[in-house]
Amino acid sequence: MDKKIIKGNFIFSKNLNNLSFLENTHLLINDGKILDIFKEVPTKYKNLNILDFKNKIIIPPFVDLHLHAPQYAMRGLGMDKELLDWLNTYTFKEENKFKDIGYAKRIYNEFAKDLIKHGTLRAVIFATIHKKSTEILFEVLEKYGLETYVGKVNMDRNCPEFLKENTEKSLKETEELILNYKNNKKSKPIITPRFAPTSTQKLLKGLGELAIKYNIPIQSHLSENQKEVKWVKELYNHNYSEVYNENNLFGQTPTLMAHCIYLTKKGIELMKNNRVIAVHCPQSNVNLASGIMPVRTLLNEGLNIGLGSDIGAGHSIAIKRSMVMAIELSKLIYKDNKNLKPLSTEEVFFMATKGSDFFGKIGEFNVDFSFDALIIDDSNLGTTELTLKERLQRFIYIGDDRNIIKRYLNGKEINF
Ligand SMILES: [Zn+2]
Repeated sequence: MDKKIIKGNFIFSKNLNNLSFLENTHLLINDGKILDIFKEVPTKYKNLNILDFKNKIIIPPFVDLHLHAPQYAMRGLGMDKELLDWLNTYTFKEENKFKDIGYAKRIYNEFAKDLIKHGTLRAVIFATIHKKSTEILFEVLEKYGLETYVGKVNMDRNCPEFLKENTEKSLKETEELILNYKNNKKSKPIITPRFAPTSTQKLLKGLGELAIKYNIPIQSHLSENQKEVKWVKELYNHNYSEVYNENNLFGQTPTLMAHCIYLTKKGIELMKNNRVIAVHCPQSNVNLASGIMPVRTLLNEGLNIGLGSDIGAGHSIAIKRSMVMAIELSKLIYKDNKNLKPLSTEEVFFMATKGSDFFGKIGEFNVDFSFDALIIDDSNLGTTELTLKERLQRFIYIGDDRNIIKRYLNGKEINF
């Protein structure tokens, strides 16, 4: 049996409101899982090797619930545009390059390495419409040992001709990818209509049928920008959430919806009843002048919320940056409405490490959880004569990838 002991200062979240701390504690790891937790090593384990991380802090890895791998190479471009302009000027052209598998290989490898470097070991990812380069993305992520969901994008109208799919072909290729990868252990398929405006009714209906037939989760965009919301109304004469819901793309299987800035009362109700997870992408919402997700209001309504870097409309792949910005934006809302209190470190840390349970039971240093961890050396950030909470907060605000000295997923070290 592959047993080992890891010692350090562990910090994690069990719920939105509290952090849990295990100071100078030993975890007994067996086959990638936490088998036992103790302050002093019991005699029966005295002969096991102890990996002692001394005064370092150890946290669960980050979970990114929304980002676009093919937009990795265009981070920071077009940040003076709004959503629809940005898509037309930069994004669609960049995504078109992924018809070339050589290009896909190069960018997807850089993308995966950067994710790992920044401590994101689980992610839910958009690819492009291209089947072959989507397969490359699956293979690259498997190679590095990350746990992900990967979606081939579907899009059959209201986009440039070079990205417009034939509806039947789009559905057929999606089904082929599902069949090829649904039994993967680490990187699994997810149904990914880009968003309602670039999909025909027929495409959405077909995707919903595939989701149910194979029990595959769903990701898309919802109510990101006011012009887009108006456009959906014109195209479908219906509430945005309802468009997805009527096509079995809204919680009929586990569903992630990015942005959720301009939800109606009915939309919020539907998300809650269907247990749809809202993904907060603060960087891209600011960069594209989309707006601010009303996180506190949605939390009060009982919605489940996770975080997304939304590369490339978001410019930094580091989820830490999204955590800080989520707090900052919530303070701007609070400034004008004292009933909506700002997000706390506890809340954003919970969102960033538990990922709304989309990946199941993760994010805790508790018995029966898999051992997933980032080892943080914060000695260059100032004194370590602080509480563990203070050191965590400081790392989130002013640390960077260089502070992460080791990364573990299911007990195995992940390298890049
Ligand atoms: Zn997005």
